[in-house]
Amino acid sequence: MRIDLHTHSSVSDGTESPAELLATAAAAGLDVVALTDHDTTAGWSVAEAARPAGLTVVPGMELSCRWFPPDERPISVHLLAYLFDPLHPGFAAERARLRDERLARGERIVAALAEAGYPVDWTQIIERSEGGVVGRPHIARALVDGGAADSVDHAFATLLNHRSPYYVAKVDTDVREGIALVREAGGVPVFAHGLATKRGRIVGDAAIRAMVDAGLLGLEVDHPDHSADEREHLRAMAADLGLIVTGSSDFHGTNKATPIGACTTDPDQYEAILAAGTGSAPYRD
Ligand code: AMP
Ligand code: ZN
Ligand code: FE
Ligand code: FE
Repeated sequence: MRIDLHTHSSVSDGTESPAELLATAAAAGLDVVALTDHDTTAGWSVAEAARPAGLTVVPGMELSCRWFPPDERPISVHLLAYLFDPLHPGFAAERARLRDERLARGERIVAALAEAGYPVDWTQIIERSEGGVVGRPHIARALVDGGAADSVDHAFATLLNHRSPYYVAKVDTDVREGIALVREAGGVPVFAHGLATKRGRIVGDAAIRAMVDAGLLGLEVDHPDHSADEREHLRAMAADLGLIVTGSSDFHGTNKATPIGACTTDPDQYEAILAAGTGSAPYRD
């Protein structure tokens, strides 16, 4: 069994539609794939309808969160959530707030870039996001198309990273609240790429323990952005704390170089997610 539990479609900031993504997953020989777009479940029904025979699809999401260290700026953390009830009112309201927040902040980044003479237009970016969730990768695409960057990675390295003068932070969900909402909605919360120092500041072990106290059930250990040392540290913590261990590609289509299935989850860990998730069910034969 080959299981990839973290992928993004064009419903958020991947480049393949949910149907294309599932075809890519099947062609890559995956047996199970989770669709985990940022802050939205808009791709779930499309994925259910477009699922190729033989492929199991786990409905999921990646929630944008923050950890608040004492005496320090908040740290961005991403929470994977599987098999939750998409209609749980409190959780649905928080996702709607996050999507509005993304729009407001995206518009501010684009306005600052346009003011400085970069070839970006907010109306065009909104149109090209096709009603999906807007993120910095959409702005990166516009910069590439306008000739201001060679690639999405280059746009991030020069203009869109959090040290850039054009960067605007989002007001993301307090991660302990996010974990509580996922659990209330019957879902399984897993800390995404928790020690990926190459992505920016990371939280310490004490924060991970506090997240477990709040109801966290798993750690994403095998992720393309984790070094071997980072994986070993997380694997040991998961063993120590009795947590589920996952592995996944964080596939974004051509917005990132990583192919689907680049990292995978062990079947027994996938079974533990199925056993813990009560808010919705996988789509399968
Ligand atoms: P946002 O959610 O709008 O803050 O944008 C973050 C998204 O940009 C995440 O999906 C990241 O995976 C992606 N991202 C961050 N850094 C890079 C990079 N250097 N190249 C491509 N994508 C990136
Ligand atoms: Zn993304
Ligand atoms: Fe992430
Ligand atoms: Fe992701």
